[in-house]
Amino acid sequence: MNEPDIGHMKAEAYREFEAGNFKRAAEVLIAVESRIGSYDALSNDIAVAHFKKGDFEAAIGKFQEASELQALASKLIIDNLIEVMKDSREVSMQPERLPEEEVARQLSRTFCPLCGSADKGFQALPEFYRKHAAEHGFKHFGRGEMTAHETYTCMECGASDRERLYAYWVSSVLCRQELSRKAKVMHFAPEPGFSRWMESIGFTDYQTADFAMGGVDHQVDLMSLPFSTNSVDFFVCSHVLEHVIDDRKAIAELFRILRPGCISLLMVPIISGLDEIDEDPEESRESERWRRFGQGDHLRLYNRESFVSRVRGAGFEVSLLDVSYFGAATYQSLGLKKESVLYVVKKPEMSNV
Ligand SMILES: [Zn+2]
Repeated sequence: MNEPDIGHMKAEAYREFEAGNFKRAAEVLIAVESRIGSYDALSNDIAVAHFKKGDFEAAIGKFQEASELQALASKLIIDNLIEVMKDSREVSMQPERLPEEEVARQLSRTFCPLCGSADKGFQALPEFYRKHAAEHGFKHFGRGEMTAHETYTCMECGASDRERLYAYWVSSVLCRQELSRKAKVMHFAPEPGFSRWMESIGFTDYQTADFAMGGVDHQVDLMSLPFSTNSVDFFVCSHVLEHVIDDRKAIAELFRILRPGCISLLMVPIISGLDEIDEDPEESRESERWRRFGQGDHLRLYNRESFVSRVRGAGFEVSLLDVSYFGAATYQSLGLKKESVLYVVKKPEMSNV
């Protein structure tokens, strides 16, 4: 038996890793995996080795696999725990409310898909925002579906929680070939970090557009876009519609320019527990906009149901991708609030626009 045992193989892999031979480290770890099967930490290590040797797609695939394995492990632990607690007498205390996220937190490393840093952690939203909201009497502060106050920005690159989710999801649709790097991409109101990342991952036709921002490829009014019908393969329009006077018109324009059969990312700030959209495009007093809509240049505040119905009203199909889609461990790694939802729209194949 001259075959090296698993312990020796792992030790070799980590020596190679230390020495900066990431390609070799990945090969050895993959050999370990082929002999003993996958588990979360091994997949994670392979992902890091792939990442270090510059194979981003393979890395994302492996990170996703690691997250899924972690989620399975946490679920197994939770299920066992619930089972054990059911049998015990002291446990009439709502076993269904066990903090699954806490278990996932113990298992997860933090990961930022924009800068690729693992285990660097995230920074809380500056206290300034809370004070400002309180001063203006904005009563929905902290009830946003997405903004994770405790883990808002990446310690390494400053990317926000939603940018991390966008990059993670874009990586995964590229890996699954549901989106091509040859797609004509239009990024409205481009977030600087996410925009740099989009440029860096190799889209061959990536363009930016905005109403007021300098340095973009197209100066546009979202309610009347200067692009041909069915001419864009993928757009990102995040946190723009709440600034636009007539958002239905803007959504109709986004629908018009997208090629049938294509998906895109359409996000707005959504307040949990709000019954309907609160809006007043006529309101010009900045302090009043702060009080009602939480920002001096916002014209409305969305709730989920009405936002989705406006988007469907334009003809889009809408998918709400949440923690049950991405997995609790992935949300933990990315530092996302468990309520976070990604809104993916699709223009149906048979569209008469
Ligand atoms: Zn980062």
